Amino acid sequence: MGRQQRVAILGATGAVGMELLKLLEERRFPVAELKLLASPRSAGTHLTFKGERIPVEPVAEASFRGLDLVLASAGASVSKTWAKTIVEAGAVLIDNSSAFRLDPDVPLVVPEVNPQEAFRHQGILANPNCTTILMCVAIYPLHRHIPLRRVVAATYQSASGAGARAMVELEEQTRAYLQGQPLQPQVFPYPIAFNLFLHNSPLQENGYCQEEMKMVNESRKIMGSPHLRLTATCVRVPVLRTHAEALNLEFEQPFPVEQARQILAQAPGVVLIEDWERNRFPMPIDVAGKDEVAVGRLRQDISEPKALELWLCGDQIRKGAALNAIQIAELLLNGVPTPGSCEISSSTAGSR
Ligand code: NAP
Repeated sequence: MGRQQRVAILGATGAVGMELLKLLEERRFPVAELKLLASPRSAGTHLTFKGERIPVEPVAEASFRGLDLVLASAGASVSKTWAKTIVEAGAVLIDNSSAFRLDPDVPLVVPEVNPQEAFRHQGILANPNCTTILMCVAIYPLHRHIPLRRVVAATYQSASGAGARAMVELEEQTRAYLQGQPLQPQVFPYPIAFNLFLHNSPLQENGYCQEEMKMVNESRKIMGSPHLRLTATCVRVPVLRTHAEALNLEFEQPFPVEQARQILAQAPGVVLIEDWERNRFPMPIDVAGKDEVAVGRLRQDISEPKALELWLCGDQIRKGAALNAIQIAELLLNGVPTPGSCEISSSTAGSR
């Protein structure tokens, strides 16, 4: 990739697309030219970049000619439809959808965890699932120190994880509920206002939903630990923005909690929020619109000497999607990360 980039956002009008637009400006990404692409539904609309109104164009075969970088956030089927055209046009595709995440030829990258993977791309790089990114940012620094044996996760996932229309649905249903009107779910299968339900992604034969299996399979690939044992229960909650996760982390050896706290306090992309006297730990309002994953309430598991309990909150539109994608693009532009930044330290690798 050259220095000044000709960039397209495919899915520019969506929750992730609009965050990508904001971040390109905020982070002063070197944009020479910007194309905003969406479905024919958005034709005629405009979005603003650096004070300039840019038209949103319906995606077409010719859209990708002359581009260096395509940031895609229009869903898996759209990415599958256009990936070949994008790569043949000579652009690099960084894809937010699940279309290519488990393809062995496609790097699945969280820059704080496996930055060196980005450089083996053949035109396509995948941005991981949002819940998985947030979890990996928080657990990988601990895993590097003492390898994980097993993770038990329970998630509390905001409405915006299902896109821009789902955010509107939560707002409208909240108003309707308070006015005593009937709730009419359209994006979600059940009322989301003043309610919660198990994650609405399709159920698999094994009884897990797709979101839960994404956490299992993607975290194994990102952390380079194909046999990591991980089980998850994913829940949708009536929060507008920011996912939360309760994680039980079992290690190969006991992990002194104070040592884990110190590691996390210095870990890239992590902020520690712990005020034990006030029972004040990370909340969605602490990190909505922010880059960091907030962790806290780190404690010894009283039922298992080798396990710790950890709570986290992270803005899944930002670090769980748009920010992570732009960090990958910055990584490709700015060059090779420090050697070995993804390896398990040699002192602990033997015990895995
Ligand atoms: P969204 O708010 O529903 O936005 C979807 C975007 O895709 C819109 O810009 C839409 O354009 C566009 N689009 C839909 N069909 C299209 C088509 N046939 N051709 C071209 N563009 C089309 O969804 P989102 O939440 O931003 O999610 C986008 C992707 O990111 C999904 O793959 C999702 O799984 C992934 N992701 C989302 C999150 C999150 O927190 N929301 C986190 C991580 C990953 P129109 O406005 O014209 O319909």
